[in-house]
Amino acid sequence: MSEKFFEAVSQVLGPEAVDVSDAGRASYSSNRLPGGDRQTDGIVFPSSTADVSTIVRLAAEHGVSLWPTSTGHNWGMGEFSPVRGGQVIMHLGKRMNRILEVDERLGYAVIEPGVTFRQLRAKMAELGDKFMISGTSGPPDGSIIGNAVDRGAGYTPHFDHFGTLCGMEIVLPNGEIFNTGDGALPNANTRFTNKSGFGPLLDGIFTQSNFGIVTQTAVWLMPRPATILGFAFSFAGDEDLSEIFELVRPLKLNSVVPTLIKVTSGGYGFATEDTYPYDRTNGQVPLPDDIRRELQEKHGTGAWLVSGALYGPSVGALQPTLDKIRAVFEASGKATYISHKEMLDNPIYKIHLDTYSGEPTASEVDMLNWRPGGGATWFLPATPMIGEAAELQHQTSRRILAEHGFEYFVEFVCSTRAARGLHLIIFNRQDPDEVARMNSAYAALVEAYDQIGYPIGRTPTDWQERAMSRLPVLQQVTHQIKAALDPMGTIAPGKYGIS
Ligand SMILES: Cc1cc2nc3c(=O)[nH]c(=O)nc-3n(C[C@H](O)[C@H](O)[C@H](O)COP(=O)(O)OP(=O)(O)OC[C@H]3O[C@@H](n4cnc5c(N)ncnc54)[C@H](O)[C@@H]3O)c2cc1C
Repeated sequence: MSEKFFEAVSQVLGPEAVDVSDAGRASYSSNRLPGGDRQTDGIVFPSSTADVSTIVRLAAEHGVSLWPTSTGHNWGMGEFSPVRGGQVIMHLGKRMNRILEVDERLGYAVIEPGVTFRQLRAKMAELGDKFMISGTSGPPDGSIIGNAVDRGAGYTPHFDHFGTLCGMEIVLPNGEIFNTGDGALPNANTRFTNKSGFGPLLDGIFTQSNFGIVTQTAVWLMPRPATILGFAFSFAGDEDLSEIFELVRPLKLNSVVPTLIKVTSGGYGFATEDTYPYDRTNGQVPLPDDIRRELQEKHGTGAWLVSGALYGPSVGALQPTLDKIRAVFEASGKATYISHKEMLDNPIYKIHLDTYSGEPTASEVDMLNWRPGGGATWFLPATPMIGEAAELQHQTSRRILAEHGFEYFVEFVCSTRAARGLHLIIFNRQDPDEVARMNSAYAALVEAYDQIGYPIGRTPTDWQERAMSRLPVLQQVTHQIKAALDPMGTIAPGKYGIS
């Protein structure tokens, strides 16, 4: 079945649009998750929206399912590999990677799926740095569209990356092209600037779903402030989290701090600079608390590192606000202040500064080497901005991970009402015992968080079908939409549990 499909794609779009080699299939099937690699029959590489449409029609004709990806840099979430083996990977980013337009009056760029954070940041520099991007702390060569349609997020006021998209162009499962918002009118002058025009707001249904393939969109840009002034505080006690949340909430609710505020556990910081000290633990896991505290001391992370940044015309103009923030944290008697200058000099603090400044950084990715064997998975619930709730999650996660032999690495990225509770779990994927423990730790986390009322959010491919099966009404509604738009299952059946 898929052989004929690949032949047809190759005939219509040329041999460069297809890879069915063993090496290609092996590399695109691999990922870092505990559930194992997902074999693919091959990979297709469109070079335009018209190519995407042609491939989708040929897939439907030959009964093939396609798994669309932009750059496959979703490390610890599934990379290129599909939820279900056997699907054909559509690598959009390889040939569709153009910045089609930058509008400097209105502050937006029109981009294809392969445009990366690094690439758009470089374009801003080329244009004189009037605008900045909102990046992630992940791979700089990840795609802006891939990240946004998975509802990834950043650290600047434009942190809601899906929220910064406007005028999405989408190839539907029948090969037709659909433009969201004002783009529904072919000659609309407001396609990239007005989201909420006529009719239902459909953009959202094309995120964390399999209802279409996004082929281009505008992404809104933020004017670059003349001065970005970072600040950080370390707290020594594991038990300080609840108080930290209570201090952070008013700073965000009252818009004192324009960036999000990170509350980062010591391990999430020092794992970017150190590896697991097996020699000191005689091979035992998880990391004993006394060694963890030593590493926290060595790298200046504290048990918790709290950071943010102020934007304004000059350091002088920002100083009164910084003084106010210092007074808030230092009144606790537990916070050690870390200045912008100190943040520049320490690689762990520097990651924070970069993310508040729209600078892609490759440094946080080094966390993936904490343990050998290349395994990594994210667990991503949300946390209301209430100390007690954060502490309950902290206790729950730390206990479950320790019981299964893993470190508790978390970064709470605090907004006004909720934080993203980014848990990254690093494990040895070459060790079957560790893989089994990782699987059961993940199941225990999902179960425990469901029970205390904090559902899982953005989810690694391993877990998407299981997570959806816990939400029967959502499953039913998304199934009905899928049946209406994609009765043949041409686009990624099983993605986010939708089929
Ligand atoms: C250390 C570390 C830190 C990280 N920090 C962050 C962070 O701060 N914020 C954050 O959000 N992420 C973070 N990540 C996760 C991840 O690396 C990025 O989100 C990454 O950029 C997304 O990968 P991608 O762009 O290659 O998307 P892909 O892997 O290509 O795709 C991601 C998902 O979107 C779907 N998709 C992609 N393109 C399309 C399309 N055109 N049409 C339809 N569906 C599509 C895919 O099917 C897949 O489900 C981090 C990762 C690591 C390892």
